[in-house]
Amino acid sequence: MAYCRRCGAPISDQAMVCPSCGEPQYSVPPVQDDGGIGWGLLGCCIPIVGLVLFLVWKDQKPRTAKAAGIGALVAVGLSALWYVIVIAGGIGFALM
Ligand SMILES: [Zn+2]
Repeated sequence: MAYCRRCGAPISDQAMVCPSCGEPQYSVPPVQDDGGIGWGLLGCCIPIVGLVLFLVWKDQKPRTAKAAGIGALVAVGLSALWYVIVIAGGIGFALM
């Protein structure tokens, strides 16, 4: 037995609407927010996607958003590091 979200009338678990007030009684599936490493990897491979996912999910799925955001940050950090190495290497090579 469940109770109506709106008027509190007892209703069947299978009822789609409240027989008393007509309020829809569909159960909202819990938001999956496992902070999966897959999202981090995706953010790492495609930083812009990671950033967008972070912005879209930061309220609804904070943990998953964080994983995607960290992935994007790692990717940006690594590419920045890569450019520094390449530029430093290029300068070093030019100076030899
Ligand atoms: Zn009701």
